[in-house]
Amino acid sequence: MAERMTVSYQKKPCYDIIFETNFDALAGELEGLGFSGRKLCIVTDSNVAALYKDTVYEAIKGVGSVESYVFPAGEEHKTLDTVRALYAFLIEKKFGRKDCLIALGGGVTGDLTGYAAATYLRGIAFIQIPTTLLSQVDSSIGGKTGVDFDGYKNMVGAFYMPRLVYMNLSVLSTLEPRQFYSGFAEAMKSALIADSKYYEWLIANLYEISDREPDVLLELVRRSCEIKRKIVEKDPTEMGDRALLNLGHTLGHAIEKAKDFQLTHGECVALGCVAAAFISWKKELLSMEEYYEIRDMFVPFNLPISVDDLEPERILALTKSDKKMENDRIRFILLEKIGKAVVDISVTDDQILEAIGEINFTEEDAHE
Ligand code: NAD
Repeated sequence: MAERMTVSYQKKPCYDIIFETNFDALAGELEGLGFSGRKLCIVTDSNVAALYKDTVYEAIKGVGSVESYVFPAGEEHKTLDTVRALYAFLIEKKFGRKDCLIALGGGVTGDLTGYAAATYLRGIAFIQIPTTLLSQVDSSIGGKTGVDFDGYKNMVGAFYMPRLVYMNLSVLSTLEPRQFYSGFAEAMKSALIADSKYYEWLIANLYEISDREPDVLLELVRRSCEIKRKIVEKDPTEMGDRALLNLGHTLGHAIEKAKDFQLTHGECVALGCVAAAFISWKKELLSMEEYYEIRDMFVPFNLPISVDDLEPERILALTKSDKKMENDRIRFILLEKIGKAVVDISVTDDQILEAIGEINFTEEDAHE
């Protein structure tokens, strides 16, 4: 019997997260949600299509009439152009209000399919089948959907809840190591903001996590989902505490754009977390030992703690053009301790520039 977790929205049970190791229960879940005989569209990227589209098709073909829409993989395709092409496909195939989109893929697929679902015919149902570690521990939960616009991350979007999140943990076996560790960065972020015991568990299970041991991965995904569930239930539309989930994202998004999306999302989040921990130390929230511990703990998980050739002024300007501003001040997420994050709008430009300097890899560092 699969494990499940229910996520509430506006205090009412809204959708279940299913933790499975295959796709066998998917058809029954779709039928249970009332999609028997309906049109179902699997939306997936070119990489995931080659790996799992046919298996998912076979698993659900008895439920209704199944179509699939494949777009080219990569963050550069998380745009309105891809959404527009998807709308055209849905119109051509005569998808109606009672039909359902199935986001099969990582955070890019989930974000853009969710946004298309939120806006097509003023809202059509969608479910998430997250296939990256990042999307299983974070992006598939909480109903944030959207696309990048003119290179600015997630500039256009909507809060729109899925009807189901179906996790098949076995798909994590085919992830490239770099993508696997990218997802780990979001798990580490969740631990840092909300749960010191989980942080210790992650460190203690370093080798098991790297070996992708199934039981350990299940525990990792489940504990991360539990943290996210609690936060999004309390603050579904980010008026308060949900902003804590943005630890590492303020500078992370700026680095992602400055590096032209050559680094993964999780790599940028790791760099952003290091910078945020550094500012937390400088503002005397964290001790020096805690700062260095947090920084160094990303290393064994193959995540960067510094990067070449950051232009500090440019990163600062990009940070200010991101969404996380409040009355012209950057809404920074800092750490009071491991397991407790806070929102801070008092971080100065100089403190940000110093933090960027800390994660900027220079020739001098190479000779140290
Ligand atoms: P992604 O969707 O681009 O997936 C990364 C790569 O892995 C892609 O090349 C993909 O084709 C491939 N892939 C996916 N599943 C695979 C599998 N099982 N085996 C082999 N390859 C597979 O990126 P991501 O890292 O999953 O997500 C990053 C995106 O998520 C960013 O756009 C970020 O902004 C967004 N995000 C959203 C939220 C949210 O709350 N909505 C939260 C965090 C991040």
